[in-house]
Amino acid sequence: MGSDVLIIGSGSAGSIVANRLTADRSRRVTVLEAGARVTDPDMRRPDLWPFIHGRSYDWAYRTASQAGLAGSSLEWARGKGPGGSSLIHAMAHMRGCRADFQRWVEETGDARWSWDSLLPSFMRSETFSGGADAVHGGSGPLPVLLPGPDLSSPLVLDYLAAWEALGVPRIPDHNQGEMLGATPNSLTIRNGERVTVSDVYLDPVLERSNLSLHTGVVVHRLLFDHGRVRGVAVTIGDQHEVMEADEVILCGGSIGDPLLLMRSGVGDPRVLHAAGVETMLESPEVGTNLHDHLLGAGNLYSSQLPVPASQLQLSESMTYLSHRGLGETSGAADIVVGCVVGPSVSEALASEATQARPGESYTLLFGVTNPTSRGSLRISGPNIDDGPVIDPNYLDTAHDRQMFRLALEHARLVGGSKGLARWRRSEILPSSPAMTVAQADSFIARAAITHHHPVGTLRMSRLESAPVSPDLKFRGLEGLHVVDASVIPAITSGPVHAAVIAIAESFSASYPA
Ligand SMILES: Cc1cc2nc3c(=O)[nH]c(=O)nc-3n(C[C@H](O)[C@H](O)[C@H](O)COP(=O)(O)OP(=O)(O)OC[C@H]3O[C@@H](n4cnc5c(N)ncnc54)[C@H](O)[C@@H]3O)c2cc1C
Repeated sequence: MGSDVLIIGSGSAGSIVANRLTADRSRRVTVLEAGARVTDPDMRRPDLWPFIHGRSYDWAYRTASQAGLAGSSLEWARGKGPGGSSLIHAMAHMRGCRADFQRWVEETGDARWSWDSLLPSFMRSETFSGGADAVHGGSGPLPVLLPGPDLSSPLVLDYLAAWEALGVPRIPDHNQGEMLGATPNSLTIRNGERVTVSDVYLDPVLERSNLSLHTGVVVHRLLFDHGRVRGVAVTIGDQHEVMEADEVILCGGSIGDPLLLMRSGVGDPRVLHAAGVETMLESPEVGTNLHDHLLGAGNLYSSQLPVPASQLQLSESMTYLSHRGLGETSGAADIVVGCVVGPSVSEALASEATQARPGESYTLLFGVTNPTSRGSLRISGPNIDDGPVIDPNYLDTAHDRQMFRLALEHARLVGGSKGLARWRRSEILPSSPAMTVAQADSFIARAAITHHHPVGTLRMSRLESAPVSPDLKFRGLEGLHVVDASVIPAITSGPVHAAVIAIAESFSASYPA
């Protein structure tokens, strides 16, 4: 028997869409999820988040060799199972700033995507630890914790004060529409444990008779007739099956969705031909516009005070800054510097930081908030086991390289400041006090790690050439929507999870369009 709606993927967005759409009990919804339910207790521990990658609930992708990163390729974790990437993410909850969403409005021509228009969606999703007010929700599913001084590391409290002493404004949190300034990260943690989106949106409604969740089901292809989607081809164990529906909603994420479309014959004919897939629908921009945040890991210090273990998730405060000056309080963020309560070093720099141990060292991460480099991803063959070719094309533009150098300078500025003097024994990395542009670029290329925010591979736009329309319909196929990180046309300044949640809430509130 078919469903009214098939949702592909029960990750961050899929869990929300499944919850909201089944509130109407007359609508039958089936959710298909490739991964299994995760019971690993380590997944719950915020401080272990960097150490659970590569387990059975991680797709564990890797990028192609990156020219902008001295030829290295980066590990790309992606969650697999109910909860999706919220199973393994770093739990930072930052909506992004007004200027970020203004770019979405310009791209789509639709005011629905402004920060102010999305505010009800942000608020509906959360219960804020500081209580409900004009910008924070008090009764939504997702707990958002703004840590107080009792939970924050003393190192991070000094880090925040050090920025203030340098003239950076102190802001209450990252979720009030402006992000420039110093503040602890808001986190989706409750009672010391990670909370996944599935925990609070999907699992509580699984008893609804109009909702079915099938885990361990990999969707191979979309099936369509005369320009209308009618279902999907899946494997369950070794069995191939067809599942039919009136409508299909793609929530497979910014990697899973374009790969599924390409396997289905939807994409750039040259890419499909090279992979041995017959073109069913030309949609040349499928898989393009791939972009991500990079972080430099890092600007590393040995500490003269013992660095207490983090009670949170290690990376406790990201400070967003404008290239216009440290005292700026509104407008776009250009760079970010984050304080990690321990050593955080890229694979390429690991051999230069062997003396840095937890408890004895700390790191200032640095990065570019609005990168202009754009890459792409594609299938390498027609089958689910044919691995993707992922090329984010990092640091391709002069803008990104220049902003990255600025970010490194700012990390060293606060790292070497009086406010952190009682912690700082010495700067371990970079090892040279003064750097030429070439030396800084070379260091950055080796320090770079992903911040795990790939977006944009099915961008929404008013332009007919873009795969997805501003109301999240896939162009060229009736009965198909895309609702997840892949529709983001231009990345928000901070981590993207809150924006993905707002997309899913906003879509669900207006469904059916
Ligand atoms: C290690 C890591 C750290 C991060 N840290 C942060 C952070 O601190 N703050 C923040 O804001 N963001 C963070 N992010 C990013 C954020 O988690 C993601 O952007 C967000 O969860 C993406 O949501 P989504 O719904 O687009 O996709 P996902 O949550 O990835 O969900 C996609 C789901 O679809 C399933 N799927 C895919 N293909 C198929 C298929 N063919 N058949 C069936 N099922 C399929 C997948 O298994 C998965 O469950 C992090 C991400 C990672 C990986």
